[in-house]
Amino acid sequence: MRQSSAIVATPAPTRAVHPGPVLEMRASRIVAALDGFRTAFPGIRAFYATKCNTHPGVLSTLHNAGSGFEVASVQEVDLLRETGVQPHDMLFSNPVRAREQTARAAEAGVYRFSVDSYEEVRRVAEEAPGSCVYARLITAGDDSVVPSEGKFGVDAAGAVSLLVQARELGLTPYGVTFHMGSQSLHPAALDRPLREVAAIMERLSQVGIKLQMVDIGGGFPARYDEPVPALELFGRVAAAGIARLPYPVEVFAEPGRALVAEAGTFRCRVIGVAERPSGWWAHTDLGVFHGLMEVLESGGNLHYPIHDTRGLRLRRCFHLTGPTCDSQDTWARNVLLSADLREGDELLVSSAGAYTSVYASRFNGFAPPRVVMI
Ligand SMILES: *Cc1c(COP(=O)(O)O)cnc(C)c1O
Repeated sequence: MRQSSAIVATPAPTRAVHPGPVLEMRASRIVAALDGFRTAFPGIRAFYATKCNTHPGVLSTLHNAGSGFEVASVQEVDLLRETGVQPHDMLFSNPVRAREQTARAAEAGVYRFSVDSYEEVRRVAEEAPGSCVYARLITAGDDSVVPSEGKFGVDAAGAVSLLVQARELGLTPYGVTFHMGSQSLHPAALDRPLREVAAIMERLSQVGIKLQMVDIGGGFPARYDEPVPALELFGRVAAAGIARLPYPVEVFAEPGRALVAEAGTFRCRVIGVAERPSGWWAHTDLGVFHGLMEVLESGGNLHYPIHDTRGLRLRRCFHLTGPTCDSQDTWARNVLLSADLREGDELLVSSAGAYTSVYASRFNGFAPPRVVMI
């Protein structure tokens, strides 16, 4: 006789939801990139731009290799302290801060702050009396793939007056910085700002102010799908500009992308393939809102190298789009992949270590990618 329990359907085991894309970060590539940067910029101290990739393994790899850190928030200061980074190895280069950000960073021991307005100089004087300030110069920035939109910076005359005002408010006029725009493709972009820095130093000398530091910022390119100028070429322009400065100073740089982009590879999954009037589409569990935001930020000008693991000689042109319903989620167009690409295949997206996982959201419910060190 059948037991009554047998006719009650046992619930089917819940299908596990696939954990989604993974960003693999190769520690040895990060160390090699820092070494390469030091070779190209001898005598210049690197302060890694923390925002680029904040995975603890990335931060500790760079810390153990002797890098300093550029921060934009006290939350980044806290994160770095958990990794063992000393606040005196940090530069706070975000030139406009909520005043408690400055206060808390100073309490922690950060003593160098960038400024680009008199208001900010005054806030620093109030919240972090006696600390060092460095003026952020505006740059043209139009030579870079991800320009900074003229958001920050003063001209040379403005930098001079900010640093004079800093002294009047009891701060130390410490230096000058600039940022040529991210993924710069033109080493000459360093030339003009360094000439302006020389002029600023001359002007300040006349009023008895001697700077200690020049910070050539970030923007150094990483290799994506197309070749980029060698870092040595940027290094040569920097060295020439530094040689023209009226007196010796410490020189810093704030590379972000150049240190971590090439160390990262996304592994993602094809969740479906469809032929539409607009062409062949491969839908993936990786998309703009889950790691590839810079596709939008660069207006489609940043092209990640993409490979499938099927490896068929016969190729087909695909548009690649993410898992959400958002029409902006398409992250690559006209990519040649194996013609028989299908559900479940893996795609590898390389040069993905910078400005990817840090931008990822939970949009449409999909989890941000996991980041693992290898
Ligand atoms: C983001 C940022 C950097 C790093 O820029 P990359 O283009 O990644 O090298 C450096 N300095 C400041 C102030 C930044 O905001």
